[in-house]
This record gives sequence, C-alpha cells and structure tokens, in this order.
Amino acid sequence: MRITAPTLLLSILLASSQTFAADTIFYNGTIYTLADDQPSAVSALAIEDGVVVATGNDEQVLARAHEQTVRINLDGAWITPGLTDAHAHLYNLGVSLSQIDLRGTTSAADCVQRAREMESTLAPGEWLMGRSWDQNDWAVQEFPTRELLDEAFAERPVYLRRVDGHAIWVNSVVLTLAGIDATTKDPEGGEIVRDAQGMPTGILVDNAADLVRELLAEPSTDQIEATLRRAIDEVHRHGITGVHEMGAPLRRIDVLQRAELEGWLDLRLVCYIGGIEELELYEGGAVRGDPAAHLWIDGVKLYADGALGSRGAALLQDYSDRPGHRGLLIQSREQLQEGLLRCMRRDLTVAVHAIGDRGNRVTLDAIIGAHRQLGGDRPLRELRPRIEHAQVVHPDDFARFAAHGIIPGMQPTHCTSDMPWAGERLGDQRLEGAYAWRTMLDLGLLPPLGSDFPVERTSPWLGLYAARTRHSTSTGQSWSPDQRLTALQALLGFTVWPARAIGAEGWGRLVIGSRADLIVVDRDPLADDAAGLLETTVEMTIVDGEIVFAVEGGRFSSR
Ligand SMILES: [Zn+2]
Repeated sequence: MRITAPTLLLSILLASSQTFAADTIFYNGTIYTLADDQPSAVSALAIEDGVVVATGNDEQVLARAHEQTVRINLDGAWITPGLTDAHAHLYNLGVSLSQIDLRGTTSAADCVQRAREMESTLAPGEWLMGRSWDQNDWAVQEFPTRELLDEAFAERPVYLRRVDGHAIWVNSVVLTLAGIDATTKDPEGGEIVRDAQGMPTGILVDNAADLVRELLAEPSTDQIEATLRRAIDEVHRHGITGVHEMGAPLRRIDVLQRAELEGWLDLRLVCYIGGIEELELYEGGAVRGDPAAHLWIDGVKLYADGALGSRGAALLQDYSDRPGHRGLLIQSREQLQEGLLRCMRRDLTVAVHAIGDRGNRVTLDAIIGAHRQLGGDRPLRELRPRIEHAQVVHPDDFARFAAHGIIPGMQPTHCTSDMPWAGERLGDQRLEGAYAWRTMLDLGLLPPLGSDFPVERTSPWLGLYAARTRHSTSTGQSWSPDQRLTALQALLGFTVWPARAIGAEGWGRLVIGSRADLIVVDRDPLADDAAGLLETTVEMTIVDGEIVFAVEGGRFSSR
C-alpha cells in the first residue's frame, strides 16, 4: 500500500501524543466506513483539514475533541461515504435544469408567466430556455408571437421549443442576435413564419431554427459557469459528492480548471475529454492522483455504437423486432483502435460507449488490439480501460472483460427504464446477457455504477434501488432476479468501485486518511427492505469536511 502524506503525518501524531486537532466530530450514529469492502460500522468519526482522522465509538473519538471542535450529534442518523455517479453528464444536467417545462400550459401568456418565475435563477445575459409547449393544448390554438415575449423580456434572449422539437418560439433579442429580419430568406427545409407585413413573428420552423441553434452551440464562459454551478448544487441535494463526467469539450474543461482555482468546484469531478477531435486540441496530459483535488482529467470518451431504444446499438444478429437490421457502428473497428491507441500513447484512460453485443465485441477487440500495438510491458489492466454501458454482451465475451481487466461501467436505472421494450428488441436469449452486472461481478469485475443523468433521473437512490431489485416502480415489472446485487454491493458500486475504476486511493471510503466526503441520511441504506431507498432523505452532504448541502429547516440546518 502507498502511504499518503496525511496517513503518514497521522501515524506520527498518533505515535507521539495520541492527540490531534479535530475540526469536526460526528457521533451517536451508524457510520458505514466501508473499510475492507464491508459495512465496518462505527458510531463516531473525526475530521481534520478535510481528512478523516479517527473512527471508533463515541467515547474514543470524543475524547479527542478540543475547545473549537464542532461536535455534531447524529441522533441515530446514518453516514455513508458520499456517492459517486460513475457515468453522468453534469453540464447537460445543468442545461436541462435551466429549461422550463411548458407541458400543460393553457395559453401563450401562461408560458410567459412560467418563464418569468424562473428568471431569477438565471445569470445576467443567460438565455432563458424552455421546452414542450403545444398550442394545441391552448384555448387559442395558434402559433404564439414574439410580442408577448418582448413585453416580458426586452433584453434577455428567450428560446422556447415546441413539444415535437420542430418549431421554436423566440423573442426579438434572439432574432436580432441571429440576424433574422424581413429580408432574411427561408432556408431550405425551413420556414421563418411572418406576419402580414412580412416581419418574422418569432416562430421558426424546422431548418429555420438552425439559424438560432448556431448561436447556442457556443455558450459563453459565464453561461458555462452558471450551468455547472446549478448542476453541482443539484447533485449535492441527492448525496452525490463525485461524478465521472463522460465527455467534455475543452472549453468546458477550461472553466472547470478555473472553478478549481476559484474554489467553487466542491465535488470530485473526473473528466473524460469528449472525442478524438477535442483530444487533438488538448495539450496537457492526464491530471490524476491527488486525492485533495476536485478536478481530474482521467481520459477520453469515445463511441462505438448507438442506443437500443432507437435501434442504433450494434448487434451481432438482427433486432428481434426488425428483421434485417443490426444497428450501426459509429466508426469502424480500425478507426476506433487508432483513436484508442492515440489515447493510450498519452496515458489517457479510454472510456468507450458500447451498448449492443457487436458494439461490445468490436470495442473489446479494439482495446486489446490497441494495447498490443502500444507495445511495452504494462499490462492492459493497469491502463484501466472502460467500456461504458456494456449493456448487451455475448456470452463468449464476458470472460474477456475479466481476462484483460476491462472495466464495465454500468447504469442500473437503464435496466429498469428499458425493461418495457428491451425484450422486444433483443428476444429472450439475448436478454440473458443484458444489463448483467452480477455476471460481471462473479467474474471478479467491479462495475462502477452510475445513472447517465440527465438521460435518467439524477438521484443515485433510484440506482441503488434498481441495482438491488431490478424492479421498475413505474411499470411494476421485475427482471432476471439472479442479476440483482446485494445491499452492500450496490453501495460499493456507488462509492468504492468508482474510486477503484480510476485508481483513486482515499476516495469512496471513510477510513483514516480518506477525504471527508460523506452524507448523512435519515434511514439505513443497508436495510433489508430496498423500498426504503426510495424514501431516503439526504440530510447533509459534506465535501472535504465542509457542509455543501443541508436540508432546509432540517435538524442539521442551523450549522
Ligand atoms: Zn452517457
């Protein structure tokens, strides 16, 4: 074991005086430290300078308090290490949170009213975005116009997408920014809706909306910052203290680097650069290994195939519900291997999206092939290559993950969300190798678990529940119970296994020397009844020993 500086320092302190200056002590609770991959519960824990410095019973740990120590009586509550979502899109979450949902509105004026209500959450100049209005739901079933928006928003750009995505409703600020006026011609395949005088009304149909979308492709750094801050606040509320960000452009990484310097990146964000083109622009190397850091740049996210829902996932045999169709590889095996090799040469971890059994097989081939081309004597498992989703795997291929140490990054809620139609796409036989996290585990692999938010909902408690039950609360269906994880395995999947996947010592557990990233919850996350997970309230979220979230009006909120 590598001895980290804090551990070493602590050993010296303990050896010399048996005292230290605890900033904070939690006591009178059940604290799952997850030491040795077991619950390893204690009742008290002390933190100093963002690091866990003692665990044990109340008497032992409280004996080490001094005058300034903040003592927090857990009053029977539970603590676990902060949860990590090992496959997510933090920035996209921020974007989706910033968009108003206009479903169920009764008029155009109703839309404007909702837009006004959310405006206070936006930064100056930030675009006000909304989605899912439908004039067919309104009393007056006509397209709305820019005048109504202009009255309320004279300076802020407003962009509201129709329910089907085929039309947008914008204000005059947006039309001006996009350079659209009476003289602008309709683009091919699109229409700028106009009034009797030929003036644009603010409705842009199909390809005409591209004139505006081009502006959105390049958000300002202020917008990126506001979006990230919003998303960080949101994940803290769910008890998330770590995210593996699966695909980020360099401009966003620049903002994240600034965030780290400015001190507002208060979670562990492990970034994967979004694709080879972005990698070509990146001059640095991997940034990883410092447990006190909040931003790691671990590798590159690549794609092998599409998704199952749209039949884009590449299968070895035809889709069961569409004969003659096997999905698509996004790039050839050769191209993929070439990209992987470039990453490996720069010591960047590869994380490849693969959903279908052909997508997974080709990715396994390409990873193994690239490693062979790389040469040298570093075993492949030391490069910690990841296949993200690993959703449908041919029975012959599971063992190859294990033999080469290729890590399957899996998302339990994809399983329960896809359940209603995955059987139709795949048929019974293939379904057996689908979302098979227990099979991976039995082979000695430790799949880091995640949600893919905002594709799925943010709450990791839904993921813990899905991992343990494979039961969908919305349809009432259950699925291949032999693939369920135990309560402890599911919790490890959102704490220790993500840390293992990136080689992070000091994260994911609450042992002496660990970073003090932890959550306080109102019920036992390892209780036999998994249904309690869905009712769990995260009362406090703590990163580096600092409270980053506490339930408003809750028993710990006054601190
Ligand atoms: Zn994803």
